[in-house]
Amino acid sequence: MLKPQDQNSWQATVDSLPDLLWDVLIIGAGPAGSMAAIHLASQGHKTLLLDKYRFPRDKTCGDGLIPDAIRCLQRAGIYEKVCQAGRQTKMATVFSPSRVDLEVSGEFLTIKRQILDELLAREAVSRGATFCQGKVKSLSLDSQRVVTALISDSPQQIRTRIAIIAMGADVSLLRQLGMVSRPKASGIAIRGYLRSSLHLDHMIVSFDRAIIPGYAWIFPMANNEYNIGCCVLYRGTSTDQINLKEMFYKFTAEFPLAQALLSQGEMITPLQGAMLRCGLTGSQPLKGENILAIGESIGATFPCTGEGIGKAMETGELAASVIHKALTKRKSEYLQEFPRLLEEKLKPRYLGYQIAENWLAKAWLNDFMVRRARKSRLLRDAFTGILAETIDPRMVFSISGVLKSWWK
Ligand SMILES: Cc1cc2nc3c(=O)[nH]c(=O)nc-3n(C[C@H](O)[C@H](O)[C@H](O)COP(=O)(O)OP(=O)(O)OC[C@H]3O[C@@H](n4cnc5c(N)ncnc54)[C@H](O)[C@@H]3O)c2cc1C
Repeated sequence: MLKPQDQNSWQATVDSLPDLLWDVLIIGAGPAGSMAAIHLASQGHKTLLLDKYRFPRDKTCGDGLIPDAIRCLQRAGIYEKVCQAGRQTKMATVFSPSRVDLEVSGEFLTIKRQILDELLAREAVSRGATFCQGKVKSLSLDSQRVVTALISDSPQQIRTRIAIIAMGADVSLLRQLGMVSRPKASGIAIRGYLRSSLHLDHMIVSFDRAIIPGYAWIFPMANNEYNIGCCVLYRGTSTDQINLKEMFYKFTAEFPLAQALLSQGEMITPLQGAMLRCGLTGSQPLKGENILAIGESIGATFPCTGEGIGKAMETGELAASVIHKALTKRKSEYLQEFPRLLEEKLKPRYLGYQIAENWLAKAWLNDFMVRRARKSRLLRDAFTGILAETIDPRMVFSISGVLKSWWK
């Protein structure tokens, strides 16, 4: 546990910030913002990472990291630290709507976001960034191409050459700047923590009939705790038709593993919900010459799985790479490459996951795929590959993919 004075020493207050022109201001210290800060500060750029909350702060999430997130943490040289604070798991069990189960092997890690996000923000500070609590209420650009941020409840103005918006599913600032093309979120998810004396080793994902299109999860955490929750991905359904809490209670009352955990334990936190923005759509990633947006703010969360920590960090890495070029070569034109890089390097992967979501949203097709995978080594390996992103989901969720599974 951190001592109170240690908690404070790495976090600045807005009023104590030096009056200087920052190279980069990053608004939001989730995985996207902090990963960008880690890379930019490591390269020697004057980086200010700002979050509306003082850390540690809770973030409503499933707390599950899959291989893309693990690789990002490895590239940033922080994986060992995260591992020590989290819990590694090598197996996930997926249940189809008819409760046919399938074991999928892979590299998984669970860690409370309260812990992960503080580790990442502290890492950015240890590489030279300044971390500060402050809620940005507006951004404006002057004739010298300097971006000025106004902070709520403070007269302080922050001036920067480049601003990155990494505010998660909160797109209020992007809307002010005219960067949002789809205000509506892609889905909604809730979660709570339960503690149980029953020991469960696997990550559990259930495409429960009560929840489709979406799924429920039970992820084992450290200290006999479990992150348990469910998400619904909107597919033309009106938001007010969805009562996610009711779905959650139905799931926990009927799903045998949830019942077993609860019979030997209890929920230790209330349920909390948050929106998902998926598909790398809905917001533009660049405004003018020097305002970028990353992470869930640009819909970086994957369709189908709702997995967004890894992808948020990847968009942070990409933004950091173009900003580094722009700052070192003193040419803001390099920032214009950011939307193209996102399209080239990341977008095709979202298309595959969108097709997987379309297939798995149909209960009969979901059952069929899980039953086929139980008989086909090829398909089981392919599911592992999809989670590791070594296989495009379109190779499996297609007629030819299904036909191939008949032979192997
Ligand atoms: C219930 C639930 C379960 C999920 N489960 C998983 C999972 O198991 N695995 C996974 O990979 N993904 C999961 N996700 C998705 C994942 O949480 C997001 O994709 C991820 O957090 C996006 O990271 P980000 O850095 O873009 O934004 P965030 O993590 O949302 O961070 C945004 C930050 O911006 C700050 N901020 C907002 N407004 C301002 C402002 N005006 N000024 C300053 N700071 C501001 C916020 O305080 C916050 O710290 C889940 C989501 C939900 C809702």
